Amino acid sequence: MVKTSILVAGAGGRMGRAVVAEILKTPGASLAGGFERPGGPAVGKDIGVLAGLDALGLEIEDAAEKGLARAGALIDFTAPAVSVHNAKAAAKEGVAHVIGTTGFSAEDEAAIAEAAKAVPVVKSGNMSVGVNILTALVEKAAKALGEDYDIEIFEAHHRAKVDAPSGTALMLGRAAARGRGADFEAKRADADRTGKREAGDIGFSVMRGGGIVGEHRVAFAGMQEVITLSHSAIDRGLFAQGAVTAARWAMDQPPGLYSMRDVLGLDG
Ligand code: NAP
Repeated sequence: MVKTSILVAGAGGRMGRAVVAEILKTPGASLAGGFERPGGPAVGKDIGVLAGLDALGLEIEDAAEKGLARAGALIDFTAPAVSVHNAKAAAKEGVAHVIGTTGFSAEDEAAIAEAAKAVPVVKSGNMSVGVNILTALVEKAAKALGEDYDIEIFEAHHRAKVDAPSGTALMLGRAAARGRGADFEAKRADADRTGKREAGDIGFSVMRGGGIVGEHRVAFAGMQEVITLSHSAIDRGLFAQGAVTAARWAMDQPPGLYSMRDVLGLDG
């Protein structure tokens, strides 16, 4: 029997709760359950109640392995070490994996790429349609404008966000570098830089505060004009919607590492 229901990692977290609510309101989608850190406060609680909805009679479990056997896809907004563990478990069980977590090391990325040899994995620093369109526009603008225009990427998020710059800001930076035909890591200038700008630097500015869901601005600053492309996330349901779309898409794909641009058909 083909399994098509969706398991949620970190089901008690900010994004996990939004994903559960999104699955429940999406026609044709079904929820396989959710899990949290062993000993975490959400374990044993009703997954529906935790998402702010009616009780579903489905308790939050404490390990990926328990729910994977019931699932066709896993949606994962947790933390890097957790997502790497989940990638291995999902690959072993033949379950498609949608990863929204950000802040991975190069070693983590390699472990996820390895898991993607066995199952479809969709990984994106931002699951919203708008940001993925913005990414394509940034690549185009960077190509057209060249190094006479300094690129600065500003991002703002809520006070509890752990990594900086955000996964989305890095995604935008990589798109800008691609547009210029430059090596992103060689041109990346994080917020702690001092001294004058080097030609071709891709700069980052970061703000953390309050409940900001996600703001991103990419400025191309020339000597006579500044062009700014921007995106504001108003509700994290936006990312949940993208993740559920990705999970349903991934269940029909062969093994491989995909991005939201693949899911949304934005390449080519
Ligand atoms: P969050 O509220 O802290 O949620 C993460 C959840 O994972 C928490 O409930 C945490 O529990 C739980 N967790 C920890 N260890 C676990 C384990 N071993 N197994 C299962 N669950 C575990 O954070 P968030 O705001 O939802 O963000 C999560 C990630 O998604 C971050 O990396 C963020 O940057 C990223 N994000 C990505 C997008 C996108 O579009 N790609 C959008 C928004 C956020 P404890 O609190 O008990 O540790």
